[in-house]
Amino acid sequence: MSFLKQINPFENALKQFDKAAEILQLDENQIAMIKEPRRITEVNLPVQMDDGSIRIFKGFRVQHSIIRGPAKGGIRFHPEVTVEEVKALAFWMTYKCAVVGVPFGGGKGGVVCDPSKLSRTELQNLARRYFAELSDMFGPDQDVPAPDVNTNPQIMSWMFDTYSMHKKRFIPAVITGKPLELGGSEGRTEATAQGMVYCVREAVDHLGFGLKGAKVAIQGFGNAGSHAAKLLSEDGAIIVAISDISGAYYNPEGIDIDAALETCRQNEVWTLEGLEKNTRVEKMDDPMKLLELDVDILIPAALENQITEANAPNVKAKLIAECANGPVTPEADEILEKKNVFIIPDILCNAGGVTVSYLEWVQNRMGYYWTKERVNEDLERIMVKAFDEVLETSKKYQVNMRIGAFILAIGRVTKAAELRGLYA
Ligand code: NAD
Repeated sequence: MSFLKQINPFENALKQFDKAAEILQLDENQIAMIKEPRRITEVNLPVQMDDGSIRIFKGFRVQHSIIRGPAKGGIRFHPEVTVEEVKALAFWMTYKCAVVGVPFGGGKGGVVCDPSKLSRTELQNLARRYFAELSDMFGPDQDVPAPDVNTNPQIMSWMFDTYSMHKKRFIPAVITGKPLELGGSEGRTEATAQGMVYCVREAVDHLGFGLKGAKVAIQGFGNAGSHAAKLLSEDGAIIVAISDISGAYYNPEGIDIDAALETCRQNEVWTLEGLEKNTRVEKMDDPMKLLELDVDILIPAALENQITEANAPNVKAKLIAECANGPVTPEADEILEKKNVFIIPDILCNAGGVTVSYLEWVQNRMGYYWTKERVNEDLERIMVKAFDEVLETSKKYQVNMRIGAFILAIGRVTKAAELRGLYA
């Protein structure tokens, strides 16, 4: 296990919470109602493998909060996923939903597995078993999962089908991030990146530079990162570096993003492997050095704990847009603040995904579906409003954007908890 993984993401998340709670002068009772996860479930999932053997996979579902609405949050398939990581991700979901004002609480799921080593049948068996095992927790009014790292619309389809077969009804609102054919929303695939772009446009305006010609480095080239690269290049930004598990690729003149996307499509699994053969890029010796490049905008879009006290002093970007959840540690945050780096925090920056998930859930419940233009109009309105409110809050309390976002969100969750009162 790497050094980065040893940083406990839930402890980091609580540090962010504590700072904001102190500024808001929350009392012990208020904190007790909203800080710790409401429910943590761990399951052992027996799955029949192609060779006839049975393997046990560990799975988690954490419901951090159901105060403002049903728990909401993706399911991550990863060999190193831990319950602490899932707790942190569920916690961030509660506050992310509150920042953008969508009526959900926070949840997250994880399965310890390496999907690249599973056949399609094994993957399907695992996805169905996970959902079946936890099916009492899930439901359109209880807990509504979505995709996260290494899960996708196909996996959402299997999970939706498992639930609908159990209930003997067609219930698309139990999960979001589904394909269009099964009640998915237009615009959902690129929603996280699109929401981030709306925030970045506001941020560069605020900072006084334009997106056109701005140099950008992006870590991670999956759902969030690849769409981020495409959308920002369409806005005139120059994407000088991109990376994924296969390595980091650099061209100071700008990378041809269409060629990068084509490389991923041509590869058996979605990676940038071999990009240096298809277009003019240099493969960097140390992929982590991407984070230290001389760029205007840095977009971490892979995993948490990537910018730490070790590399934060070398970050040169003016603006960091956190597409990933928790990519900057609290120690790094302090260093970056002193360096005047403007950070659009994860709970605001990547909230486009959950916002369009909410719009998908609404459409499922109405049984009426909107155009992509309509979805993006709502997404832009919600993201721009949230950005402005976070900026205003951070100015009011003279804190950075992350603490501003937490103050705004914690205030909303606390208010909702007070209005509901405590059912004894
Ligand atoms: P994904 O699985 O589609 O992509 C992850 C990418 O990160 C892949 O390109 C992978 O190769 C790369 N990666 C993994 N380890 C890496 C490393 N050490 N260095 C460089 N690249 C590495 O996942 P995604 O959905 O794009 O999610 C990425 C991040 O964005 C996660 O933190 C996730 O929680 C967050 N996020 C995603 C969404 C969404 O809607 N997809 C919404 C909100 C937040």
